[in-house]
Amino acid sequence: MGPKIIGKNKSGTHIQKGGIMSLIQARHLKKNYITGDIEIKAIRGIDFTIESASFVSFIGPSGSGKSTLLNMIGCLDPPSSGQLIVAGQDISGLSRAQAADFRGSTIGFVFQDFNLIPVLTVYENIEYPLLMVQKWPEAERKKRVFSLLEAVGMADQAKKYPSQISGGQKQRVAIARALVTKAKLVLADEPTANLDRETANRIIEMMKKMRDEFKTTFIFSTHDPKVVKNAEVIFAIEDGQLQKNPNTNGGSHV
Ligand code: ADP
Ligand code: MG
Repeated sequence: MGPKIIGKNKSGTHIQKGGIMSLIQARHLKKNYITGDIEIKAIRGIDFTIESASFVSFIGPSGSGKSTLLNMIGCLDPPSSGQLIVAGQDISGLSRAQAADFRGSTIGFVFQDFNLIPVLTVYENIEYPLLMVQKWPEAERKKRVFSLLEAVGMADQAKKYPSQISGGQKQRVAIARALVTKAKLVLADEPTANLDRETANRIIEMMKKMRDEFKTTFIFSTHDPKVVKNAEVIFAIEDGQLQKNPNTNGGSHV
């Protein structure tokens, strides 16, 4: 079955069934960057809703606003205007410290440029977020890190440093690190951009499995139409605006 459109991108069309709040709600969301005299309208007033445990992709060409949007959802960069509610929290009102706390407790990230810590091994990079939250006894932590290492096919590389592994392998470590704390929401900015097709599909399958197991919501961005066929909800973004909102691949999240 091909993708089908279940709604248009208009405000006021996101009334929740049974009054249960969605994981993410964006209303008239805008982001402008000002550099010198020039203002760039990166996100030009968009509305969308994302439910818990969904598997979502924002697809669009380079420069369309995907990273800007993910950074706002991830509380890394505040909106210029409009409303953005993530896990019940209106994130535009947060101080920097509050945003950092919120990120640590709720969100896992996979950055486009991996952001692995060069002086830590593969194992230690994945373990790092668990040490930050401090509720994992050592034995549990070890088990958790190794289960993630295995899930991304990196168990035999645990002792290597980021400089000793390939770009694709770094990407897999970054994904394992984002998943290790069982965050409610994982944001992945072009997570498969540097991977071969087979590895990309394996990573996407792994994310879906995690979603099924832990009810994690996955939001990733991509410019690759071949990757997007694996998403269940697809938002097409172009020039800071949503084209259709949303398409689905016939998943159960309608
Ligand atoms: P994508 O991730 O889809 O490639 P981005 O969100 O990175 O797109 O960029 C959207 C637009 O905003 C582009 O025109 C880009 O040049 C601009 N932009 C992104 N980040 C910044 C920034 N920090 N300062 C100024 N302009 C930016
Ligand atoms: Mg980007």
